[in-house]
Amino acid sequence: MSCNISEHKHKFLHELPKCEHHVHVEGTLSPELLFSLAKRNNITLPDHFPGSVELCNERYDNFADLQDFLDHYYIGMSVLINEQDFEDLAYEYFKKAKSDGLHHTEVFFDPQGHVERGISIETVVNGLNKACKKAEEELKISTKLIMCLLRHLPVPNCIETIKSAHKYYNDGTIHGLGLDSSEKPFPPELFESCYKLVKENHPNALLTAHAGEEADPIFITNSLDLLNVTRIDHGVQSHRDDELLKRLADNKIMLSVCPLSNVKLQVVNDVKELPIRKFLEFNVPFSINSDDPAYFGGYILDNYIAIEDRFQLTGEEWVKIAKNGVYGSFIDDKRKEEIYNAIDEVYNKYKDLI
Ligand SMILES: [Zn+2]
Repeated sequence: MSCNISEHKHKFLHELPKCEHHVHVEGTLSPELLFSLAKRNNITLPDHFPGSVELCNERYDNFADLQDFLDHYYIGMSVLINEQDFEDLAYEYFKKAKSDGLHHTEVFFDPQGHVERGISIETVVNGLNKACKKAEEELKISTKLIMCLLRHLPVPNCIETIKSAHKYYNDGTIHGLGLDSSEKPFPPELFESCYKLVKENHPNALLTAHAGEEADPIFITNSLDLLNVTRIDHGVQSHRDDELLKRLADNKIMLSVCPLSNVKLQVVNDVKELPIRKFLEFNVPFSINSDDPAYFGGYILDNYIAIEDRFQLTGEEWVKIAKNGVYGSFIDDKRKEEIYNAIDEVYNKYKDLI
């Protein structure tokens, strides 16, 4: 895939300080960790699930559609039982992303996917939080946890989930609210009461939602107007509405774009079909993310490389993308300044070579 990219450009992209805003921790469960946790927790995987790491990788390369992916994803989740499992899961992702040049990450998790299996939200959050603390100390990256609601579940269940998480918003363990899972049948307006409940109780929480991955741009507009989100996850369908693109640019609403995921789930046939040039032309801020990297064939750097391979962006354009990602991050100005400076440093090192 990287045949069009010079060695210097590759090194530049590797070292370029990255912020990730769209990664589901459950989607970072590598086949290796999946089998080792199944063993540790004495879990027998169903007969139709691939029986080895190699077979898993092969199967993950050939998802028929979103549902086929979700079927594997939920079986994968079933090996996560104890606090330690969640800590190991998140820490493995942090280490991998750090080796890709990550400086800051905002990680989604789906408490409902665990609570419905009898795993308490305390087990999930405590395990993830331990990994975050360890990553900040040992890997020197900054992290935030964003709780997502599964939009295929009933609203009362979502409200209960929010209530069970109040204490974690209050003590600063959870920083935001997101909305994920199958999009088209479950439009944003269904979740107005959920977002209102979080906003009223935790006015400083970050509000975001998956919108416009496959569904019409109106899903994006309604997420902004009815859910009051300040970021859109995916949002690639916004390219069909120039007025919306202007609004996103004027209000600096960042889109968290996931190139390899869009190909794997057949939102587009090829990365080159993504509206990257149009976003740059309209000045719409976006970041580049891995979504469910263990299932979609690539972590954050792989996604940067895929974009470079198809669009051959200039060094300046990459700096702009990286800085927009910092600007759109849920971190204080001091931390932003640190990452801006690190971006300039890498750019200055490579600018005459790329
Ligand atoms: Zn996602």
